[in-house]
Amino acid sequence: MTLENATPAVISFARYFNRPLCPACGNEQFVPELSSFVHERRVRHAWLCEPCGNGFSTDVEVG
Ligand SMILES: [Zn+2]
Repeated sequence: MTLENATPAVISFARYFNRPLCPACGNEQFVPELSSFVHERRVRHAWLCEPCGNGFSTDVEVG
């Protein structure tokens, strides 16, 4: 499992609410830049924080 730049807190938040907070500035993210299936039950969202320009990704279990 690779979670790159996302913190555990961001991951758990994303899992339940699907709206992560930027790990750099704490701004709530609303729309993923990109979403892709890592495998059939896991989706990776790529986010780009507009206020600070930080890019990060989160993995979410689906199904
Ligand atoms: Zn940010």
